[in-house]
Amino acid sequence: MRPDLSILTMAGILEARPRVGYFYAGKHTKNLIAEKIREIKVNDIKSVPVVVREDASVYDAIVTLFVEDVGTLFVVHEDGSLAGVISRKDLLKIAIGNADIRQIPVSVIMTRMPNLVTCNPEESAYDAARKIVVHQVDALPVVKTEEINGKVKYKVIGRITKTIITKLFVELGTI
Ligand code: ADP
Repeated sequence: MRPDLSILTMAGILEARPRVGYFYAGKHTKNLIAEKIREIKVNDIKSVPVVVREDASVYDAIVTLFVEDVGTLFVVHEDGSLAGVISRKDLLKIAIGNADIRQIPVSVIMTRMPNLVTCNPEESAYDAARKIVVHQVDALPVVKTEEINGKVKYKVIGRITKTIITKLFVELGTI
């Protein structure tokens, strides 16, 4: 009996108190999953960001999308800080028009600050996944906030995507 009780205590299902003994902690499996996905940090699951400079052409951005095998690109200023985000459909939209995509810079079509949804490395996997769902986007830039000459800049240090969240889901579900 004892080893079983200690396993259940470690799992957070039972609690042990001196003189009281073991009692049900009231935690269901659902709570355990909720705790787990809040424990995992964006920093633990992020992958490398794929970025283009804001003066890169739409044509170059499409090539980058294929070469790097990603669906979303982050656009950065000259100093490497976050300027915008471009999705597959942003690129498709301009490419199916009559625009000369070799001449148009990505800065013309990107979604820009202050409309960007970002996350920071200390946020939980749950918070990041929730932002993806709430804002209906495929990817979030992972940023570190820096203040340079009184201006707030967002240094891009990673990316969180729907694929990363799906992989985490599979990992957590694997027995
Ligand atoms: P797609 O456009 O290929 O369906 P998304 O759903 O990710 O891909 O993008 C939808 C729109 O939201 C696009 O216009 C894109 O620029 C914008 N977008 C994508 N990611 C973000 C983000 N993290 N923050 C703000 N806007 C975003």
